[in-house]
Amino acid sequence: MIYQTDLDFSSLRTPCYVVDERLLIKNLEILKSVEDRTGAKVLLATKAFSMYCTFPLIGKYLSGVTSSSLHEARLGYEEMGKEVHIYAAAYREEDFDEIMTYSNHIVFNSFKQWKKYKDKVQSHPKKISCGLRINPGYAEVETDLYNPCAANSRMGITLENFEKDFTPEILEGIEGLHFHAMCEQNSDTLERLLKVVEEKFGTYMYQMKWINFGGGHHITRDDYDIEKLVKCITHIRDTYDVQVYLEPGEAVALNTGYLVTTVLETMENGMNLAILDTSATCHMPDVLEMPYRPQIIGAGKPDEKPYTYRLGSATCLAGDVIGDYAFDHPLSEGERLVFCDMAIYSMVKNNTFNGINLPDIVLYSQERGYEVTKSFGYEDFKRRI
Ligand SMILES: *Cc1c(COP(=O)(O)O)cnc(C)c1O
Repeated sequence: MIYQTDLDFSSLRTPCYVVDERLLIKNLEILKSVEDRTGAKVLLATKAFSMYCTFPLIGKYLSGVTSSSLHEARLGYEEMGKEVHIYAAAYREEDFDEIMTYSNHIVFNSFKQWKKYKDKVQSHPKKISCGLRINPGYAEVETDLYNPCAANSRMGITLENFEKDFTPEILEGIEGLHFHAMCEQNSDTLERLLKVVEEKFGTYMYQMKWINFGGGHHITRDDYDIEKLVKCITHIRDTYDVQVYLEPGEAVALNTGYLVTTVLETMENGMNLAILDTSATCHMPDVLEMPYRPQIIGAGKPDEKPYTYRLGSATCLAGDVIGDYAFDHPLSEGERLVFCDMAIYSMVKNNTFNGINLPDIVLYSQERGYEVTKSFGYEDFKRRI
């Protein structure tokens, strides 16, 4: 993957997130082709990407959204207006009536949650399809932070718990099973995961109307094997006569956005340091949480080019460091740097720690050029504390 763009960011105020609509459309076309070839429905997991000015566009390609909370469900309902699915490990009673008004599918994390809300759902004027999240106990995710099948996980019903509490009546009104056990993975992982799901829960799958494969499918990545995904979907579809759902987050907006920042200062302490007007902890928290090292256009790994810098932010958190990068030239004050793949898990997770202002949110489209869709100031900082 070569990190480059034909966009000229020099007119924009920094820091800012820029989403390139042309790249988003490229991803959406790939996802739509999976829908068209298999009959599966693809939903945007808004947890990863909630820049809702793009929801009308996304809705032209995908079948709807999946949400993790009342507010996400409402955003998907109001801004996309297609299918709204929701899953949460537990629902708040005071949220539930409103959740029902927005949702077409509600996924419960346990038989207990299902029993608690069953009457409410079934007496709702709108038909709401209910499902259960199962925990297949199999995942190829190395970091526990992202492994829903780690030991003692709260995510979903394990086979052991399923069989312990199972009665034939308990599935009355349950139309689907949902699992989510992948993270940034290819379809060979899905193939192995499905084998386990079928072995463990196959008998119940024949009674279902739908099976939701969750997220974590890196479908829009260059090396993703779409043929194998198509095989997986059609196999489940035809074996159990079910509607298949996929709910990728990352894959929808993967590599479609940037975070543009300005060098505020350079200094030296045993090595070259540069201070930026963006922050890992405030504007790209996954850099510290995952953790990972984002790419910068034109920069290489430390010592790959003549001038290596450690890039940090202006906050007073000592560890608010993005990483070490090598450049062809010495960095200077006022210079702009462009971080890649910053559409996902960025603006949905940012914060105003240290009173650092939030980046502008900018959409670039072929027809309209740059549009600053959001900018933030003191009131945004003050309102949330
Ligand atoms: C996080 C999540 C997704 C989206 O995952 P990505 O890794 O962004 O594709 C989908 N479904 C559920 C239940 C999730 O928790």
